[in-house]
Amino acid sequence: MTKFQSALDHVHATLSDLREQGVELRASAAALTRLADTPTAAKPVPAPLPGSSPVSAKAGRLAALRGPVLACTLCPHLVKSRTQVVFGVGNPEAELMFVGEAPGEDEDLQGEPFVGKAGQLLTKIIVAMGFTRDDVYIGNVLKCRPDMPPSDSGNRKPKPAEMATCLPYLRQQIDIIQPRALVALGATAMEGLLAATEPMARLRGRWHDFHGIPLMATYHPAYLLRNQSLTEKRKVWEDMLLVLEHLAKPISERQRGFFLPAK
Ligand code: SF4
Repeated sequence: MTKFQSALDHVHATLSDLREQGVELRASAAALTRLADTPTAAKPVPAPLPGSSPVSAKAGRLAALRGPVLACTLCPHLVKSRTQVVFGVGNPEAELMFVGEAPGEDEDLQGEPFVGKAGQLLTKIIVAMGFTRDDVYIGNVLKCRPDMPPSDSGNRKPKPAEMATCLPYLRQQIDIIQPRALVALGATAMEGLLAATEPMARLRGRWHDFHGIPLMATYHPAYLLRNQSLTEKRKVWEDMLLVLEHLAKPISERQRGFFLPAK
């Protein structure tokens, strides 16, 4: 990575942090990255996940929904730019479902949500809660990567109209899975789900309602990668403790103490 690209990545990260904190941005990240030329290589579309046998009713309904979503052309500009639709992954019988805003570059290439560095951190959070990635379901409000000019790297925030167009697919996934709790990762996901425009600092730490299903809001893992203070990690962890309590999962003293300052 060149120093120039590193500097641009830093600017992107700072813009994202400001957005997460609710600061209205007027600078265009796309305009900044237009200066860089980092073409990406497309990978072949991976084979669909093998179904379990016998296929549960929920798995069958998700599989039936998957085909039309993978072929969706409702957003012509995203159809042109995407490598593939990122449908969602996980356990059709999940009690807990995580919802992000949209696929990024890694997810667009691999066809799975949360597979980059932020995804690896989400996996750590899931494991710290006592689950595996296969126990939960992970999806995004927008199922195609927001388009970028051909010479640009990085990712952009999905537009409200794009999220509104795609949201019915997520609603169908949630209707099928019927998780006992949803976790929205980041302020943009909350905007897509509930049209909430408050900063995450005011949205997190309390339950919201998404069509009858309790919804916890917390910071996006990418935010934690950029803000590695114990205080910020603890905030996310306290949100997850609320989720575990809601699900009536056992919580050890060690888990309760994660990210507390040493005495
Ligand atoms: S973002 Fe959603 S609605 Fe738009 S083309 Fe992709 S799958 Fe279809």
